[in-house]
Amino acid sequence: MNLIIQKCQNCNRSFSWREIYNTLWGWMYKPIECTNCGAKHKITIPGRFIFVSLTILPMLIFVNYLSPFKNFVATLGVGLVLLLIGSLLTPYIVRFKVVRNKSL
Ligand SMILES: [Zn+2]
Repeated sequence: MNLIIQKCQNCNRSFSWREIYNTLWGWMYKPIECTNCGAKHKITIPGRFIFVSLTILPMLIFVNYLSPFKNFVATLGVGLVLLLIGSLLTPYIVRFKVVRNKSL
């Protein structure tokens, strides 16, 4: 696993952290488009698992098993912070693959 932001598989331009982050929270099914060459990239299946295991999973585990709080609002608050921290890392780890266009 290398912590380098994904590059366009067509022209090698690096995507920005923000482009990837926005795509991930656009609910994963919208492909990311290279602003340089227009190649579309879709999240890989392992990428989806990584995304979930860095965001939703830590929150669920904390809320269900690890919370020291009796207060549900405090528990949920910390859970959401975990989700946020995890999500900030996802653009470095989640991978996309270029969508083969028939006209290429
Ligand atoms: Zn490109």
